[in-house]
Amino acid sequence: MFIFSPFLIVHLILFFYPLFDYFYLSGSITILVLFTFLIITILPSKTTPLSIVDSQSPIDERDAIFHRFYTIKPGSKEFETYYKSRPEKKEIDNAIRELPELGEPGARSYHEFTSIYQDATFDVVNKISREIEWTPENSKVVTKASPEEFSSRIKGFASYLGADLVGITKLNPAYIYSHIGRSPGKWGAPISLKHKNAIAIAVEMDYEMIKHAPDSAATTESAFKYFEAAKIAMTVARYINKLGYEARAHVDGNYRVLCVPIAVDAGLGELGRLGLLITPKFGPRVRLSIVTTNMELQHDKPLNFGVQHFCSICKKCATNCPSASIQQAEKQVIQGVEKWQSEQESCYRFWRTQGSDCSVCLKVCPYSNPNTMIHNMVRWIVKRNNLSRHLIYYGDRLFYGKFRNTKYKLPDWHGKE
Ligand code: SF4
Ligand code: SF4
Repeated sequence: MFIFSPFLIVHLILFFYPLFDYFYLSGSITILVLFTFLIITILPSKTTPLSIVDSQSPIDERDAIFHRFYTIKPGSKEFETYYKSRPEKKEIDNAIRELPELGEPGARSYHEFTSIYQDATFDVVNKISREIEWTPENSKVVTKASPEEFSSRIKGFASYLGADLVGITKLNPAYIYSHIGRSPGKWGAPISLKHKNAIAIAVEMDYEMIKHAPDSAATTESAFKYFEAAKIAMTVARYINKLGYEARAHVDGNYRVLCVPIAVDAGLGELGRLGLLITPKFGPRVRLSIVTTNMELQHDKPLNFGVQHFCSICKKCATNCPSASIQQAEKQVIQGVEKWQSEQESCYRFWRTQGSDCSVCLKVCPYSNPNTMIHNMVRWIVKRNNLSRHLIYYGDRLFYGKFRNTKYKLPDWHGKE
């Protein structure tokens, strides 16, 4: 990355030289000032990591929004039982039920062809996610190897299958759902998952598709990458089974665990203001899947590349959120973690009004920018110190504006929305 520094110096000189000239500073003073400025902005400074300040406890999968809208049907025993235990959610949920279903006519962005791309892709994801109940026998032959060797083989295989990021962590029991909701199995039954380790897998979402958010092209991309992440996790889990160990894939529509905190522990990225994982290379522009296992593995370390500090300055996701669901204010302690809160009901209500999975927050996040040389240089600088994050914040507003454009040309195969 240091290779970029000379480019940066040249750009700074060209950019600021007229200004220095105006103030009658000599060439050598100009270069000295620029060097000092450069050194100050790249010197590493301490950054605050995500703080866990209290004990954490498992979450009930029945409180997840998709369980409430896709698993329990009005009039069913499960529906009555759920809202009896959570009466405060009944009114808002019933108001959302009045809106068109995702991908169906009546929503703002509905289109007879393009909305069906997202619908068809999610149908396949839902179908294959059910196959996880297929529980093959572990191999009778138990292959022995060191945790380092198993970890290296699993990461290599997952990358070959298409994973863009893979990390491994000890499985925190607080990140296992307490009761079955949306995932297959007896509704409301306590979840017992004895696995000690978790493998987090991330697949990049295509920037060209995501920039069409909140229209359905972004949702089709999201569904497609859920599919890819599911395929990789299921194959990796099967590989571990065949080596003689227990393993379970956790994929869209069939999770027994929470993906984001596990991915944070596994060193894939940090939790951002928008409530999603922010990775160093792709920002929040990823889809996740998890494999849990009893195989002994080597653990990765969580990352700290300045996201907590940058998010405290930036707020672009919150400013651009069409439903004001992302917290503008300071962090709160939620489930023992100091973080920004997103409101899932108002977010989902917007999805139903729009007819897509929105993803505007993900699109506008400066960390989502594509992997060009200039953006990678900015990524390198932004993780260095507090001053550079303030400068990058103003740079982002200067080049991209406070609100991001939504008028992009769709790929030819996709056609108009
Ligand atoms: S998906 Fe859209 S509505 Fe939901 S939090 Fe992000 S920007 Fe807001
Ligand atoms: S848009 Fe800004 S505040 Fe929101 S997650 Fe991205 S960096 Fe953080």
